[in-house]
Amino acid sequence: MRKIPFFKYHPEPLKTGMIKKETTTCEVCEKEIDYIYNGPFYAEEEVSDICPWCIKDGKASKEFDGTFQDEDSCDPVDKEEYVDELIHRTPGYGGWQQEYWLSHCGDFCSFEGFVGWSEIEGIINDLEDDISESGFTKDDLQRILVNGGSLQGYLFKCNICGKYRIHFDCD
Ligand SMILES: [Zn+2]
Ligand SMILES: [Zn+2]
Repeated sequence: MRKIPFFKYHPEPLKTGMIKKETTTCEVCEKEIDYIYNGPFYAEEEVSDICPWCIKDGKASKEFDGTFQDEDSCDPVDKEEYVDELIHRTPGYGGWQQEYWLSHCGDFCSFEGFVGWSEIEGIINDLEDDISESGFTKDDLQRILVNGGSLQGYLFKCNICGKYRIHFDCD
């Protein structure tokens, strides 16, 4: 069994659930594969089965003229090539609303997963700025932020300095 490729902006897609283990046929390369993409893909055509290898080499986005993340819903970064890698060659994540991708130190952060209060309690200092910008207080979050609940947290981590960031949305 092949190991799935490494994605700089989504290093643990099996853990986040955005790639899952399933034997099926990839619609792009038409090979039988053991892993399948489980996140959003924005394209004209409905494409349901994409393998991680066709994400990594850009084949899926090229063939279907699609993206895994909306270009207009991303923080600014220093280089255009970062945007290209994120939207065309990185597994996305499924949010309640339009997914938003955070950056730090001039580059996109890696998506770490879906979180509630208990998952972020230990790293809360890193998240102070994002929390105050969100309009919620820490007390609010402690009460209402539950993984899989109406208010959902999406955790990111800077690949350069290691700082955590968080994005929220509601159902
Ligand atoms: Zn494929
Ligand atoms: Zn940073």
